Amino acid sequence: MKKENSSKLFPRAKEVMPGGVNSPVRAFNAVGGEPLFIKSARGSKIIDVDGNEFIDYVASWGPLIFGHAHPSIVEAIIRQAELGTSYGASTELEIELAEKVVNAVPSIDVVRMVNSGTEAVMSALRLARGITGRDKIVKFEGCYHGHGDSLLVKAGSGLVSLGIPECPGIVSSLAEKTLNLPFNDIEAVRDLFQREGNEVAALIVEPIAGNMGVIPPKPGFLEALREETKKAGALLIFDEVITGFRVSLGGAQKLFGITPDITCMGKIIGGGLPVGAYGGSKEVMDHISPVGSVYQAGTLSGNPLAMAAGNVVLDLLSEPGVYDLLEDKSRKLCEGLEKNTRELGVPAKFTRVGSMFSMFFTDEPIENFQSVKTSDTEFFKRYFNGLLEEGIYIAPSQFEAGFMSAIHSDKEIDQTIDASIKALKAADS
Ligand SMILES: *Cc1c(COP(=O)(O)O)cnc(C)c1O
Repeated sequence: MKKENSSKLFPRAKEVMPGGVNSPVRAFNAVGGEPLFIKSARGSKIIDVDGNEFIDYVASWGPLIFGHAHPSIVEAIIRQAELGTSYGASTELEIELAEKVVNAVPSIDVVRMVNSGTEAVMSALRLARGITGRDKIVKFEGCYHGHGDSLLVKAGSGLVSLGIPECPGIVSSLAEKTLNLPFNDIEAVRDLFQREGNEVAALIVEPIAGNMGVIPPKPGFLEALREETKKAGALLIFDEVITGFRVSLGGAQKLFGITPDITCMGKIIGGGLPVGAYGGSKEVMDHISPVGSVYQAGTLSGNPLAMAAGNVVLDLLSEPGVYDLLEDKSRKLCEGLEKNTRELGVPAKFTRVGSMFSMFFTDEPIENFQSVKTSDTEFFKRYFNGLLEEGIYIAPSQFEAGFMSAIHSDKEIDQTIDASIKALKAADS
């Protein structure tokens, strides 16, 4: 694999950006520390500045459920760009996207668009604190909810990949208000709510954990969260920034039949442009300004380009059969990968919900942050680089999810399964 041009760009990037990147995991620190620079992408393929072509299972960390540069999405963006890129005023496009979200997501009657998942979550926490008049937030170890101050305590995603347990710069009085529990541990949740449930403003959870690798909720876990928060008068926040429109049109809440009080979204609803959103019942959302006094605003919120792209994606997703197709492709890939590890005797555990999946190099059953941490990250590093050599691009960390798109072909999936045999052998030697 040629790396000349990427290797030339990296020192230049490092001169002017922290670590040469605008988001930490991109720096490839967990897999050798030489990132690829991307030149273009189309469909399921991503192409770097050296002309290397990869089948992409990162999908810009989840948004690209129809792959790169989907013609209908590109067309919608171009059409809108010609009409103006931002007005800082209301548009019909925003109403259309909001209506689609409200129709699809069971718990949402009213939704506010923002510019990122982080912003959606920060706003949701403020809303919960504003409604309850309480300060404490409960979250789960290894879940990631963006980089808002209250949530960077024992968080997943880049903090796990880079081994950062506590982020400096967080006001300690704020960090103290964040209580961390092990994911999937119903007893721990019940104990905490018994002790101090009446001080909790909100419990926030990724209903399917996706930022320590994929961990599905155990049966009864989400139900227990709903029950305990309700009893305590605390709000239940589902962070569906990944799962929203990924695991079903109505997100994880539809899949599992649990109704949260506030839902955060991002990634897919922007069709690859910067977007976030949070919503809930009218009663809850009426606390947001200008109706209520919980303030939250944004210069570029509801940006017409992002709304145009989001509208197309949600239309494409509501066509019949899309989620079955995603399920079939993802199952085929994961079964193939699993067969390879079995035949080669490599210890590995697989997790998957629909088109989000993980492969952990461990023997431990995958239940929570403790169990994923038993993975052999050195093996992963060799495996990752082996796959890259074979033209397969997965997230450069053991603790990130893989994403299938609706346009990965059967041939590409077979190619990936074949490549994994070579990568596993190379990693094992
Ligand atoms: C990606 C992500 C976020 C943060 O979204 P950004 O757009 O990166 O700010 C929040 N929560 C979850 C579950 C995510 O996966």
